[in-house]
Amino acid sequence: MKDETILNHDDYKDQHGAVVAPIYQNSLFTFDDWDSIDRAFDHKAEAFIYSRLLNPTVQIAEQKIAALCQGDKAKLCASGIAAITSAILHCVNAGDHLITIKNIYGPTNNFINKYLKNKFKIESTFVDGRYVEEFEKAIKPNTQLIYLESPASLTLELQDLSVIAQLAKSKGIKTIIDNTWASPVFQKPLTMGIDIEVHSASKYLAGHSDVVAGVIISDKQTMDAIITGEHELLGAKMAPFEGWLVLRSLRTLPIRMQAIMNKAMKVATFLEQHSNVVQVHYPGLKSNSQYELGQKQMSGYTGLMSFELATKELEQIKQFVDALKLFKLGVSWGGHDSLVYAPVISYLKELSPDKFEAMNINASLIRISVGLEDHEDLIHDLDVALQLIQT
Ligand SMILES: *Cc1c(COP(=O)(O)O)cnc(C)c1O
Repeated sequence: MKDETILNHDDYKDQHGAVVAPIYQNSLFTFDDWDSIDRAFDHKAEAFIYSRLLNPTVQIAEQKIAALCQGDKAKLCASGIAAITSAILHCVNAGDHLITIKNIYGPTNNFINKYLKNKFKIESTFVDGRYVEEFEKAIKPNTQLIYLESPASLTLELQDLSVIAQLAKSKGIKTIIDNTWASPVFQKPLTMGIDIEVHSASKYLAGHSDVVAGVIISDKQTMDAIITGEHELLGAKMAPFEGWLVLRSLRTLPIRMQAIMNKAMKVATFLEQHSNVVQVHYPGLKSNSQYELGQKQMSGYTGLMSFELATKELEQIKQFVDALKLFKLGVSWGGHDSLVYAPVISYLKELSPDKFEAMNINASLIRISVGLEDHEDLIHDLDVALQLIQT
């Protein structure tokens, strides 16, 4: 079945023909007799015993996401970061080494660079993900994991997924990708040899700015090990109602992504041509240095992009952000609502200015998430604010 059919066709005959899945708002499941609960425990990852491990409403959403990603199985979690930390913990042991990219999502960076390092002496190397040789050079005898995020959610740089997956396989190294930016509609990393895919479902998968959620997708063996290992023990499970909201969102995922791509391309093109914008980071633009790679491994482009204003003065940057009316100021992205954020606001609270610069970002960098509003209105909003900048 094609994506649209997977996400929109349901058959709930045993639920009175209800056209929408019911919400199983129960914590546990009871059994007829000793033998049946005994049997259930033999297949703990697949039996309805307790809603921390498996819930029927959440399971329907998980099955659809697994099919969409062309994996065997998916597990929804309480947040994207719960999915990320569970997947990473599954792949590494104390004393191991992992490789990731420099511009990784902030909390993932903290987890790898502080938490794993300080608590478990897990070493990490942060490479420029645009160059496969950098991964190759960073491999050590104890490297167990290559953790990717392509495109990266701030600088929008890509990694070559099939080549890196091949390299990792040849050395017995596991690969994980944070595929939040592209969504499973536009990029299918498991088909390119990546072992584990994770998402912040708070972004496009849920898409309505009303759910915080995450998901892990992989083959059955890996997923069963994660479910009975990290997922059961760390307990970051998804609530039934959240699962139902994700299921609701999945129906419109392909048409939302298509609409967002059309609007975002127009916004990116407008920004690229504006004299008060120095550079636009968006892999869908033909001028992007990684355009060819994007075409090779993605079938579309989404709504998150960043750009550099033609001023380094904080007062002017503030004035630009505050002048926007349709782009609301806030963290997160991927919803129906367009958003703006300036990384300098929070990054400089955590990083020294030289580290900030070392990540290839500076105070002039603005990130926007294009939502589902009319593109001409969005462009007008940006245009008005950009005209306030004096260079
Ligand atoms: C938001 C985000 C996350 C974290 O997801 P939460 O659902 O907020 O926990 C992880 N990766 C990327 C790229 C994100 O943008």
